Amino acid sequence: MKYVSTRGQIDPVPFQEAVLMGLARDGGLLLPEHFPDVRDRLDAWRALPYEQLAFEIMSRYIGDIPADDLRNIIRKSYERFRPVPAGGAVLGQGPQIVPVRSVGPVYLLELFHGPTYAFKDVALQFLGNLFEYVLGRRNTEMNIVVATSGDTGSAAIHGVRGRSNIRIFVLHPAGRVSPVQELQMTSVLDDNVFNIALEGTFDDAQSIVKALFRNLPFKDARHLGAVNSINWARILAQIVYYFYAAFRVMDATGSQKVSFSVPTGNFGDIFAGYAAARMGLPTDKLILATNENDILSRFFSTGDYARGTVVPTLSPSMDIQIASNFERWLYLHAGNDAAQVRAWMEAFAQTGSIHVSPRTGEERLDPWLVAGRADTNQTNETIRAFWTEYGYTLDPHSAVGVSVALRKPNPANTPLICLCTASPAKFPDAVIGAAGSEAAVHEAGIDALQGALTRKTTLPNSVKAVEDFVAAHC
Ligand SMILES: *Cc1c(COP(=O)(O)O)cnc(C)c1O
Repeated sequence: MKYVSTRGQIDPVPFQEAVLMGLARDGGLLLPEHFPDVRDRLDAWRALPYEQLAFEIMSRYIGDIPADDLRNIIRKSYERFRPVPAGGAVLGQGPQIVPVRSVGPVYLLELFHGPTYAFKDVALQFLGNLFEYVLGRRNTEMNIVVATSGDTGSAAIHGVRGRSNIRIFVLHPAGRVSPVQELQMTSVLDDNVFNIALEGTFDDAQSIVKALFRNLPFKDARHLGAVNSINWARILAQIVYYFYAAFRVMDATGSQKVSFSVPTGNFGDIFAGYAAARMGLPTDKLILATNENDILSRFFSTGDYARGTVVPTLSPSMDIQIASNFERWLYLHAGNDAAQVRAWMEAFAQTGSIHVSPRTGEERLDPWLVAGRADTNQTNETIRAFWTEYGYTLDPHSAVGVSVALRKPNPANTPLICLCTASPAKFPDAVIGAAGSEAAVHEAGIDALQGALTRKTTLPNSVKAVEDFVAAHC
């Protein structure tokens, strides 16, 4: 399998190259040349444990890592999760890395049992091991530069901390991540970890990172590497749990199809669901749920992709107005027409908005994606309702997904899997504000952060300042 750029101006590259490149050298995003059709494998895969299913799916996208090595990378990546026993409301058999729980009218796919209590661990534990493998073979090093709205940073740091051939520079918007999220990053004191509090929004941080990657001489000299969800390996790792959860729910209900609801920011997680659907996973709807930062839900309702200003919400990891991964969808929507993508991206950069129409002969923009938003009141109501009616505490990101999903018509009664992207223990203020202190959830690994030693550097919102800092430390 080779990887192409959404901007069409690089030669196709194999998987390891794509992982090291992160953002394509022409400024686009990398995508597999095609999505493998796995419909004839679904029966055989249905009973596989998570790691084996991951191997089957990933090996279809990876042509340049021997099978045993890939198995080993996958095994190491899920070793640090805290498995949940099946039984009761938890579907399946045996310990579950990504448990699916039947709660009220929905199935909750809990993706937060990794080291930093958010779904990003699923991909970033894998990416850390993958980088170590690829860099080790090439006897080279990497300096990761990444922007975070909260959870990527800590998950990335925990994916690569202490590794000898990797340094990581994490930019978070100063004062705009939750106290727990900040501590999860700044309390990691390994020599290869640098936390930067940027005086700006997440979008500012993201555009600085993109500027560093566009500066090709700097990128090459400093061996810059990316761990944002622009990195294809992250999307790949996330495809796995869509299959896994669908199998659990199909087993439990006998249904032939499922729908997913995905709390969305950068469009990475839901794009993995979209890839799963393209591979042949029987998917009815992919429900894209945003908070008040709703550029994507507006888009899928109107076809207008128009930048707004970022407002802080209860779900900071979704406080994003420019969704990096959206370009991947645009490319596929345009029928792999890179020239069209370049025209759209240029128009968007100049005017802050573009209009996209359904494909000829189709009414909807996309066969699977539908969208909606949940505001602060609706998010709070959902947290409160799930706590009082089912005794289950949702974190505010997951609550956005549940709230939007439950307001969508579902005439065929298709089982609805709502992705739970963070542990409620990460967002105690939001949980207590919505449902009272009884609803608060504690995790020993989070409580232990209080009073920890921390380290960070505050920098102004400037490409130059960040570039100088990176250069000085690598
Ligand atoms: C990152 C994140 C999201 C958004 O995921 P995207 O892939 O950026 O769409 C949602 N919830 C939580 C808790 C996150 O950390």
